[in-house]
Amino acid sequence: MNNFFSNTKEAFSLKSNFELNRAYFLFKIIGNQSVVKLMTSLTNFSLKFNLPVTPIIKSTVFDHFCGGITQEDCVPVIDKLYKKNVYSVLDFSTEGFVNEIEFDNCLNKKLSIIDFIKNRNEVPFAVFKPTCLGSTDLFVKMSSGLKLSNSENDSWCRVVKRFEKVCEKAFFENVKILIDAEEVDVQKAIDDLAIMMMRKFNKSVPIVFNTVQLYRKDRMQYIRDLLKNDKNKGIQFGLKLVRGAYMEKERKIAKNKGIDSPICNSKIETDDNFNKAIDFVFENLNKISFICASHNEDSVLRVMNIMKEKKIKNNDPRVWFGQLFGMSDNISFNLAHNKFNTFKILPFGSVKNLMPYLIRRAQENTSVQGQTGRELQLILNEKKRRRSI
Ligand SMILES: Cc1cc2nc3c(=O)[nH]c(=O)nc-3n(C[C@H](O)[C@H](O)[C@H](O)COP(=O)(O)OP(=O)(O)OC[C@H]3O[C@@H](n4cnc5c(N)ncnc54)[C@H](O)[C@@H]3O)c2cc1C
Repeated sequence: MNNFFSNTKEAFSLKSNFELNRAYFLFKIIGNQSVVKLMTSLTNFSLKFNLPVTPIIKSTVFDHFCGGITQEDCVPVIDKLYKKNVYSVLDFSTEGFVNEIEFDNCLNKKLSIIDFIKNRNEVPFAVFKPTCLGSTDLFVKMSSGLKLSNSENDSWCRVVKRFEKVCEKAFFENVKILIDAEEVDVQKAIDDLAIMMMRKFNKSVPIVFNTVQLYRKDRMQYIRDLLKNDKNKGIQFGLKLVRGAYMEKERKIAKNKGIDSPICNSKIETDDNFNKAIDFVFENLNKISFICASHNEDSVLRVMNIMKEKKIKNNDPRVWFGQLFGMSDNISFNLAHNKFNTFKILPFGSVKNLMPYLIRRAQENTSVQGQTGRELQLILNEKKRRRSI
C-alpha cells in the first residue's frame, strides 16, 4: 500500500472502538461468499415475511454503509465528515419503482433534496439513478432505437420532463447533479438525456455530470466523440469516471444473447481504460470537470500525480474524488486531509429499500478481489495502533 493511504489514524479518526470492531466483524463476514449468499437469502426471506430483522440489519450493516433513514438523520454524519474536510452526497434509495406515481414521488423527493442541500457547502452534489424517473422497459426501448407506441411516447415525454425538472432545479440552486450509470441496455437513452441536459445547463459551469463506466469496451470512444461533436461546442462537460458495477450481470446477458460481451475481457483492460480516461480528461481540463469515483489506490494516485506534474492545486474545483460511505476511508480521509476535493456517497432510506444496495456492497466486497482484505488489514492496523497508545 502506498504510504499516503496507510495513515490509519486519519482514516478512522471518526470511528469509535465499537464502530471499528463492528467494521472488522462486517468485513470478515462479507469476505465469505457462502455466508453472503446465505445471509442474503435469509434477509430477503425475513423482510418478505415481516420477520423482525430490521433492528439487527439497522444496527450492523445499515449503520456502517448508510447515513440514516431520513435526510435529517444524515445531518450528524454530514457534519462529522465535514469537520474532516470530507463532503457528502445524499443518495436517496430509489430502486424498484415501477409506476408513474412512484416516478413522480421520486422526482419530488429529488427536488426536495436539492432544496435541503442548496445552502449547505458540505453537500455540493445531488445524485439520481435515471430509472427511478421512468420505467426500465422504456429506457431499454429508447436505447435500442425501437419505435414507441403513442402511449409509450407520452410516458417518455414525462421522463424527459422529470429529467429537465431535476437538472433545472439544480441549475437554479447552483447545485451540481450526478446522473448514475446503469446497465448497457438502458445506458444509450441515459447518455442521450444527459447530453441534452448538459447542452442546456452546462454553458458556463458544469452542473450536470454524466457517469462513464470504463469497464465498457466502447467508452473511450464515447468520451472522445462527446468532445468532437460540433453540437457540444461550448459545453463545460461534467463526467463521473467509474469502472462499473454490473460486470457479472452484463456478461450473463451477453452470453444468453450469444453476443460479444460489452465489458472488457480482463481487469487489466478495464484498468487501462480507466487510466486512458484519466489522461484524456486532464488533456481537456479546460472543457471537462470530473470525479474520480473509485476505491482503487492506483487510480487515485494517478490523478494526484498528474495534478502535481501539471501544477494543478489540490482543491481545484474541476477535480473531485468520490468513495462510498463505509468503504476505503483510508483514501477519502487522507485525500481530504491533504485538501483534495473528496466526497462520500451517503445513501439513506428505509432498511427495506436499501437492501438491494447493501446486498450489492456485500457482493462487491466478496467478488472484487482484494477489497475486503484491504479493509480488514487497515482496521487491524488501526486496532493495533490504538492498543499501543
Ligand atoms: C462515488 C462512486 C460512484 C459510483 N457510481 C456508479 C455508477 O453510477 N454506476 C456504476 O455502474 N458504478 C458506480 N460505482 C461503482 C463502480 O463502478 C465500481 O463498481 C466500484 O467503485 C469498484 O471499482 P473501483 O474503481 O473502486 O476499484 P477496483 O476494485 O480496482 O475495481 C473493481 C472493478 O473493476 C472491474 N473489474 C473487476 N474484474 C474485472 C474483470 N475480470 N474484467 C473486467 N473488469 C473487471 C469492475 O468494474 C469492478 O467493479 C460508483 C463508485 C463510487 C465510488
